[in-house]
Amino acid sequence: MSVYYGQLIFEKSQEGRKGYTLPKSPIKHYELNDKYKRADCPQLPEVSEFDVVRHYTNVSFKNHGIEKGFYPLGSCTMKYNPKINLEVSSHENFTTLHPYQPVETVQGVLKIYHETQKMLSEISGLSKYSLNPFAGAHGEHVGLMIIKAYHESRGDHKRKKIIVPDSAHGTNPASASVSGFEVVEVKSNESDGTVNIPDLKEVLDDEVAGIMLTNPNTIGMFEKDILEISRLVHEAGGLLYYDGANLNPLLGIARPGDMGFDITHINLHKTFSTPHGGGGPGSGPVGVTKELEPFLPAPVVRKAGDLYLIDGKGKRSIGQISHFLGNIGVVIKAYAYLLTNGKERMKEIAKMSTLNANYVKDALKSVYKLPVDKVCKHEFVFDGLKDESIDVRTLDIAKRLLDFDIHPPTVYFPLLFKETMMVEPTENESKQTLDAFIDAMLKVAKEAKEDPEILKNAPYSTPVRRLDEAQAARKPRVKYKDLLEE
Ligand SMILES: *Cc1c(COP(=O)(O)O)cnc(C)c1O
Repeated sequence: MSVYYGQLIFEKSQEGRKGYTLPKSPIKHYELNDKYKRADCPQLPEVSEFDVVRHYTNVSFKNHGIEKGFYPLGSCTMKYNPKINLEVSSHENFTTLHPYQPVETVQGVLKIYHETQKMLSEISGLSKYSLNPFAGAHGEHVGLMIIKAYHESRGDHKRKKIIVPDSAHGTNPASASVSGFEVVEVKSNESDGTVNIPDLKEVLDDEVAGIMLTNPNTIGMFEKDILEISRLVHEAGGLLYYDGANLNPLLGIARPGDMGFDITHINLHKTFSTPHGGGGPGSGPVGVTKELEPFLPAPVVRKAGDLYLIDGKGKRSIGQISHFLGNIGVVIKAYAYLLTNGKERMKEIAKMSTLNANYVKDALKSVYKLPVDKVCKHEFVFDGLKDESIDVRTLDIAKRLLDFDIHPPTVYFPLLFKETMMVEPTENESKQTLDAFIDAMLKVAKEAKEDPEILKNAPYSTPVRRLDEAQAARKPRVKYKDLLEE
């Protein structure tokens, strides 16, 4: 590629070149007061339309994204985000609303909020939702504040501990700690990563505020003892928190509410049609049982007769945790997705996510080490290559996959195994895409055996070759000038 393509847009600038035509101004002449004028002209690139479009198209391809190729990143997986839903939520009837408008003039959007609440309740078996939290971790924090408020409302001030399994998503212990709890870790069963009941019994006492779980768990196994776990925690006076970030394998099939969970968050970004990553807008609705409803954050949308109303802070509410009603644009996308799929197709989503994961798992388990050889739900983990005499690590495999235009699976998480590779194909990939991934994984395994150096020096085709990960984290060199000096 010529140097030209690697240039910054500023370097492509040529004095006098333009990429726009402005209509004639209807204003004859207007002299701006000097105090409003800047001293120097802004340093903007002067480029043609081709320059701009090509520049940003090329920049966008320097990174791997779901628009470019398969993205089987386990856990925080990007699922299906139909473009049409983005268009719906960007409609000017929504984008021009103001949060301080009188409620009579925003009935439509309040109806969407209210109905989405109800649909999430039905899907998860919990009584009521607040759609106000901005993210999954924000939902966790809100849920934990509700747990705290619940115990304190009963005069039970000694419950300071939150139990978290060692396979939990990192945000779980972090949220518990940020919310002022002491985190108590329980080990998982080695056979399938589920909660070890004797270990759980040992840590249950009258200081336990609750437990945070996800089911299926982080390695895609269904917690078959969930009713027993729920009974034990409730008997000890604790509450059960469900991490519903990735709800796809359960949709229309099983409900956290029926498993005994008292509180859950759901990531609308991930499961319900909003892309995530890069800090874009998200939404982490929190649902609770009937008993916990008064603790939900404010404001709350309520229906009175035919009118939708917004209520302020109730007596026991944990208070306001976001501006207004959260990221309503994300809620609109979720609403469109829920209506498009309807009850029946919800089940298909769950079944396809499970079928796809098992298809890939079974096609690769003769070559990759499968520590838990059972039917999984939406995701599963490998523990490196099956042939342990091959001197290649999971990191090398992940890097080599980039040369096949495939985003690597999540690596080295959860910490249950040494060479973890966590794969979630998701429900919306075709058999042909899955087969291409399987092919690539088999080719990489073959290279590992025949010429491991290929893997150790990968990737070859990416704009940046293999990074020194420690240095990249400690001393990131993100300034263009620094890179030029290399
Ligand atoms: C993504 C994820 C979270 C956190 O969600 P954010 O919106 O990124 O804060 C929590 N738990 C699990 C299992 C997740 O996959």
